[in-house]
Order: sequence, then structure tokens, then C-alpha cells
Amino acid sequence: MEAKQSMNKTLSRHNILKQIHRQEDWIVVNLLHRQADIISPELASKIRDGSILSEPESDDYRELSEKGYIIDPERETSLYRLAYADFIRERDAGEVQVFYVPGYACNFACDYCYQDGYIHDSHQAQDDVIDAFFTHLDTHLAGKPWYLTVFGGEPLLPGGGQRKIISRLIEGANARNVEIALVTNGYYLSEYIDLLSTAKIREIQVTLDGVGDVHDRRRPLKAGRMNGGEYRNFEKVVRGIDDALAAGLEINLRSVLDRDNLPRLHELADFALKRGWTANPRFKTQLGRNYELHYCQDQQNRLYGRLEMYEDLFEQIQRYPQILEFHTPAYSISRFLFENGELPAPLFDSCPGTKTEWAYDYTGQIYSCTATVGKDGEQLGRFYPHTDLDHDRIADWEDRDVLSISACRDCSLQLACGGGCGSVAYNREGNLHAPDCRPVDGLISMGVALYQDADIHERTEEKRKDPKENLHFNEVQLQ
Ligand code: SF4
Ligand code: SF4
Repeated sequence: MEAKQSMNKTLSRHNILKQIHRQEDWIVVNLLHRQADIISPELASKIRDGSILSEPESDDYRELSEKGYIIDPERETSLYRLAYADFIRERDAGEVQVFYVPGYACNFACDYCYQDGYIHDSHQAQDDVIDAFFTHLDTHLAGKPWYLTVFGGEPLLPGGGQRKIISRLIEGANARNVEIALVTNGYYLSEYIDLLSTAKIREIQVTLDGVGDVHDRRRPLKAGRMNGGEYRNFEKVVRGIDDALAAGLEINLRSVLDRDNLPRLHELADFALKRGWTANPRFKTQLGRNYELHYCQDQQNRLYGRLEMYEDLFEQIQRYPQILEFHTPAYSISRFLFENGELPAPLFDSCPGTKTEWAYDYTGQIYSCTATVGKDGEQLGRFYPHTDLDHDRIADWEDRDVLSISACRDCSLQLACGGGCGSVAYNREGNLHAPDCRPVDGLISMGVALYQDADIHERTEEKRKDPKENLHFNEVQLQ
């Protein structure tokens, strides 16, 4: 019987096989069957060349078979369909993140800002627009859980007009019992804490790219950079973070990294540790990769490729282990695996645009997400002064996943990668259904090397992460 079954069995299409970074052993991961194992180089070799299939009586074959690394292809196809149906069902029931951009103006002139070429209208009264925004969502997202993220430009600018806009957004959200997140450069955060304390704040995302001048030179005050005057803001942003934490607000500290500042990330980790931030349960962090999205940058050679950044981060963590106290990088599914003792569910789509994410702006236009919002030609409709949706384009976005991208169909990485970012794919190939490949196997190889002996389970148990958390924001330069 076993011999007959083995005739039909073959290696799973979803085995991810990679040598562990700087070790002899290998890791085999299978997201469809939710299995991960460290294996010998000899067994890895037999899986790679398929010769394990000619040893159906061996213990290795039996174990690989029990765990789904070797499987009947028909059975695998039916399991794949079931997993896809589960994924769609869970996503449809999941929470939607709605961005609102009250203006694209900003008081900073970050040298990597992807909105640098956008038209910066001055902020204006927008009560009607905000009311129409909420009314539209009452219908568009009826019955769905959602939360609002206020985005920019910079949403927390000084002046009564801007406070009125933020107040109106808070009123609309409070009336619907909806939480608010904010993405801010933090410069006027202290001045807004009284107002923000009237909202249900989910988190405030503030960006610090380093300590002192490392941060200030990358993210200078616009007036200083343009007039040769004061450009520094690090101290004031830090005070804003302190004040927000003291007021009981959640801070999500983001650092946008490239070759210029990653070598000094350990200084920021030391700073956050000494300041008591990392011990505060309301403080969390994320790292983003500085990369070209829409506008060319002056200094292309400072940008990292996806794998390179994590290689350098790996090196930095070896030299400065305190970085892990500040931030535990995902390394694809590695952090999740070691924190939770199991793999996340298969990821058929890593691009939330129009599925669990929408972006609206003060001009009344609707976009898929933060990568496209405000970009001419990327509109998917409008909600003000009347509602008008481009259903064909929206359907095209909604359809994008690893099944719609032909290159992904036979890719063994697909259930960890999810097809990447639609906007990046479109910008590169003019086709939304093009792949945006993630070096998932390389990331897993480093993550396993990093975490297999580190006790991150204990340390991070109370801060367990959503497996999709870093798949998105990592790829967009917010603030
Ligand atoms: S993955 Fe890219 S296109 Fe998709 S929602 Fe995120 S930024 Fe937008
Ligand atoms: S985007 Fe590239 S790496 Fe990701 S699943 Fe598709 S083909 Fe594979």
C-alpha cells in the first residue's frame, strides 16, 4: 500500500529550502502544510535533486511524507484550494485600514520623501469633504470593522485651521466608535496631545532615523533647509514622543534605513533603551527600507536592495545585540515562527490595497493605498462632491494575488511572499499583475540563524505580532 502511494507522491510545490546563514545545516519550510524543520546538508541535497523520492522505505522519506514535504499532488491541490478559501474568508472578515490625507503639505524636507514631487496645496477648510468621507464609508464599509489613519504630508501642522480639521476627523471617528492612528513627523506632537486625547487613539507613528544629527540631516525642517537656517528637530520630536507616552498614547517609532544610517542604528537603540521607551508597553518600533517609489533620488547608491539591507542588519545585530531589544526584525516568517512556535497561515496576497486598505484625500479622490494616494492617474474614484467609483480598476486591484500573477504560480516562495507590492510592480512593469519578488528564502535563512538560539519567545510574548504587520509598511516611506 505504502509503495503504491509513494508512486503518486512527489515533492511539495511549496517547499522552501535554503542553507541557514553561515551554518552547515539547512532549513526546509512549507507554508501550505505549516511545517518548518532544520535538516542536514545530506538530506537537503536529496530533496534538492529529488533522489529522496527513490527511498520510500527510509525514515527521512516517511517523516517528510508525514509532514507534507512529500505529497500526492492532487491532494496538495485540494489543500491549496481550501487554504485559499480560508485566506479570502479571513481577509473579507478582517479589519480595513482607511487613510485620510488632509493635505500634502509638510514642514519637513526629508531627502527621501516620495511625495516630494506632489503638488502641495495649502490646508483649507474641509468640513464638507470630511463629512462626505464618513458618509461614504458608512455605506462602503457597512458592517465591516475599520479604523482611520490620518496621513499626509504632515497632518499635525500648527494653526487653528489644521486643528479644526483634526477635530472634525476625531468627531467623525468618535461618532462611529472608530479608532484613529496618525502618521506624523512628530514636530508638533506635544501641541496636539490635548486634542488627540479626546480620540480613541490606536497608535501614533513617528519617524526617527537616528540620534541627533543623523536624524536631522535626513529629515530637516523645511524652512531651515531652504533658507540655511535652523533645520534641527530631533530634540523636539523626542519631547513629543515622551509627552505622548506620558499621556498614555501608543507610539510606533519608525526608522527609514539606508546605507547612510543603518550603521548607526545601534545608537538609536541605545537612546531608546536609556530613555525607557523600550520598557514601555505602549512603545513599539518598525524599520522601513528607503527605496525609490515614484521620484528619482539624488543618491541612488545609498539605497539597499531588499536582501542587502537585512544582511547588513544581521551584521549590525551581531555587533550590537541591543538592537534586538529595540526592534526584532521579521526576517520573513522567522520572527513569527520563533515567537509563536508555529508558522503563520499561508499568505496568498501581501498587497492590501482595495482589500483591507483604502486611501482618501482632501480633494475628494479615492486611491488604493498610501503608495498611490495623491498620485495623478492612480485615482480609483471620488467620494466628494459626488460618489463615483471606477469599478473596473478597483476589480483589477481586488483580483491581484499570487494566483493572478502568472510568475507566482509556480514559485515555491509564493505562500511566504504573497506577490509583493502592486504599486512597485506597476511602476516597474506597467502591469499591476506583475510580480514584486521578495527574497523570502534568503531572509528566512538569516532569521533562523539569528533567532534559533535567542529566547525571543519569552521576551516578546506579550507583544506578539501580526504576521502581516511588516509586509506592508516596510515597503512604503511613510513620513
Ligand atoms: S503593498 Fe504596495 S500597492 Fe499594495 S497596499 Fe501596500 S503600498 Fe499599496
Ligand atoms: S512575487 Fe516573485 S518571489 Fe513572490 S511569489 Fe511571485 S514570483 Fe515568487
